[in-house]
Amino acid sequence: MTRVAFIGLGNMGGGMAANQAKSGREVMAFDLSPAAVERAAGAGCRRAGSIADAVSAAEVVITMLPAGPHVRSVYAEHILPNAPPTALLIDCSTIDVDSARAVAAQAKAAGFRFADAPVSGGVAAADAGTLAFMVGCDEADFAAVEDAIRPMSRATIRAGDHGAGQAAKICNNMVLGISMIGVCEALALAEKLGLDPVKFHEISSQSSGQCWSLTSYCPWPGPVPAAPSNRGYEGGFATAMMLKDLKLAQDAAAKAGAAAPLGAAAEGLYALFDRLGGGGKDFSGILEMLRGNLPPAQQRTS
Ligand code: NAD
Repeated sequence: MTRVAFIGLGNMGGGMAANQAKSGREVMAFDLSPAAVERAAGAGCRRAGSIADAVSAAEVVITMLPAGPHVRSVYAEHILPNAPPTALLIDCSTIDVDSARAVAAQAKAAGFRFADAPVSGGVAAADAGTLAFMVGCDEADFAAVEDAIRPMSRATIRAGDHGAGQAAKICNNMVLGISMIGVCEALALAEKLGLDPVKFHEISSQSSGQCWSLTSYCPWPGPVPAAPSNRGYEGGFATAMMLKDLKLAQDAAAKAGAAAPLGAAAEGLYALFDRLGGGGKDFSGILEMLRGNLPPAQQRTS
């Protein structure tokens, strides 16, 4: 039975660890939150008392942590000193490319195989085992990474060498953040022009405005029943998360000398929506800001 250590059992990691256990692997689960460890135990994982305890006999170590600083310290202070060097290390968090490359270099220097493997798909896909993984790793290691990821994945693509998975993730989410604002602006304008936004959805879905934000995740309630727009923009992909990814894209663009002005504009608009109380709402809820529908601060509950 493959021995997996899973570190970071939050909204995403909880479901991912559960799917590893469901596939028959022995999962040693650790999180700083005891409640998260209890939930993982309820889903078939074994409780680890520390990261060192979780990784000491692991064949595969998977991390799903908030951001770059968490990943850097967890690997440097806990995983690399305690895991057997035969273990395959896979970080699925969304972090900056520099941190991913720095951790990969440290891991390699200590004799480990390492992959950055951020995911696309939200909590529902994490629970269902249908995430898409974008992998940065040595070519020779990809088959083992793909096998380790299989219980959590519907698609796994090698993007390139270390850091390429994170690069793919932030570029993809920059497209998504920008396209969602474009769709919202068009829907808000259609409404102001007296055109039924649902009719506009039908027309643009079959015209050159067609894109995922419009046809699979429509921010206007109705046309796509599963989209968060039909439940008050609750659940889904939080604006605060989109903002984090757009900041990563801007930082990466600045360091690489790449111009990403629409990404910068999108970051500014989501930051405004966040300040107006939308940080916990699905990012498609920015439609309400663009329609001028946000209530004044004293009337808001969140
Ligand atoms: P989360 O905050 O729910 O979970 C992170 C978990 O890491 C928490 O349970 C926290 O206690 C734990 N943690 C933090 N530091 C730790 C440490 N030193 N040791 C052990 N555990 C520690 O976040 P999430 O929504 O699960 O997201 C995780 C990552 O996945 C982020 O990088 C995020 O950007 C990315 N992501 C999230 C989504 C989404 O829809 N939520 C989608 C794609 C990617």
